[in-house]
Amino acid sequence: MSALDLVVASQNRHKIGEIKELLVDLPIRIISLQELGSYPGAVEDGLTFRQNAAKKALPIAKFTGKPTLADDSGLEVDALGGAPGIHSARFAGELSNDGRNNAKLLEKLEGLQLKQRGAQFRCVMALAFPHGEIEYTEGICRGFIAFEPRGRKGFGYDPLFLVPRYGRTFAELEPEEKNKISHRFLAMQKMKEVLKIKAGDYY
Ligand code: IMP
Repeated sequence: MSALDLVVASQNRHKIGEIKELLVDLPIRIISLQELGSYPGAVEDGLTFRQNAAKKALPIAKFTGKPTLADDSGLEVDALGGAPGIHSARFAGELSNDGRNNAKLLEKLEGLQLKQRGAQFRCVMALAFPHGEIEYTEGICRGFIAFEPRGRKGFGYDPLFLVPRYGRTFAELEPEEKNKISHRFLAMQKMKEVLKIKAGDYY
């Protein structure tokens, strides 16, 4: 059986790395957007993770004629009513970067005790097919927002996301440890089952 070509519609090299690692045990050849050269850009103006994941995946599937996987994800903080959610990447405004986003989050939670700092990462994956069908899966990983950034691994809000069972932040975990419990891992577990069934036609 030859490998399935799967386009991963993400520009985030950290996400691509995690997704590749999560798919190593399937006979899949991952094609990155970079390898495509030119491709239609995505306008992420959806109101939900699901809508944004579809907006990333479907145009690329139609353009390439290949199944295309996209991940839309973010951090939902209980005390902020689920914010920053779909706005996670741009939480600190136009000049957002990971450091500024984390600083803004700490500021917003100032004065709150650990038990009031519950949060979750949510990941929605969309697998789009050239004829227009889209399959979705979702993964949620719960934790707490730390009082200060800890650790240097990972990306985004990882230095602030405390995982109770390890007593460490995502940024203090080895990539293999994060990849066994993360929202992305959980969404991918379900997506692998979809890939085995749905993508069979493309082998
Ligand atoms: P997206 O690329 O539009 O889905 O934006 C995702 C944003 O959510 C990222 O820029 C991060 O700020 C945050 N995020 C999503 N997944 C993770 C993760 O695994 N660790 C840390 N931050 C994450």
